[in-house]
Amino acid sequence: MTDAPLTFSNHLFKKAIAERISMLDDKLVGLLLVMIIALLGYKKDAVNLSGLASGIIVGFVTVLLGGLLLFLPLLTFFVLGSMFTVYKYNLKEIKGAAEDRKGRRSWNNVLSNGVPPLIFLLIWRFSSNDAFLLAFFSSIAADTSDTLSNEIGVLSEKDPILLFSWKRVPAGTSGAVSLLGTVTALLSPLPISFESYFISGGSIRFLMIPAFCGFLGSLFDSILGALVQEKRICPVCGRITEKKIHCGYSTRYLAGVKGFGNGSVNFTMSLAAGALSLVIP
Ligand SMILES: [Zn+2]
Repeated sequence: MTDAPLTFSNHLFKKAIAERISMLDDKLVGLLLVMIIALLGYKKDAVNLSGLASGIIVGFVTVLLGGLLLFLPLLTFFVLGSMFTVYKYNLKEIKGAAEDRKGRRSWNNVLSNGVPPLIFLLIWRFSSNDAFLLAFFSSIAADTSDTLSNEIGVLSEKDPILLFSWKRVPAGTSGAVSLLGTVTALLSPLPISFESYFISGGSIRFLMIPAFCGFLGSLFDSILGALVQEKRICPVCGRITEKKIHCGYSTRYLAGVKGFGNGSVNFTMSLAAGALSLVIP
């Protein structure tokens, strides 16, 4: 198992992956499981109604293209992301760094994190080039790294530092990094990379690359957050935010690309993390 060949074109390697995926390839069970998990997520307030609907679509497409086993990394991301979104939610709210809507994710969150891996899964399915399966895992690893480092990083005792301006800014500011958030970004792709390792039949490449690209993806997210993402300012508290409404008032445009919000940043970084895995020799 450990001496599984590393080349994607290798027949044995393809066979090892196909065997594992077919172990759990009951589509009907998969679709039912997606429904149950999505409804549980809705009931537990992890997603709102639009998040529920888009989550079901992303889950269904994943199961239909990749079987039950390739739904596992997506499920891992969803469970970890939801758990850490509600973790110390009240404290995040006091810091002004909590997700809106009590942390309930909407279609925008679900699709910006879910569509990039699906693109790679789709290409893998129809090209049967396993490099795209690695990109699928790398993309989800980046989603996980980014979400967890945001949700845990905002709990840092010290205020984070905004990239490129190198000033301390309030927790939750896009483009700001903390030590806690960075360590979390380094560790949180690991569950996904272990799943990738298992599904590949023990390929070190499938272990290392999602871990590496996941971390870099989350770093890229902070860079995009600092340089590209639309920033607005609250006329009441003076806080720099991405929200249109803050303290009950409309915010003013300050910097960044108009309309390029958090969802666009997440979509770009998840796609970039998967693409990066394709070019690593
Ligand atoms: Zn305000």
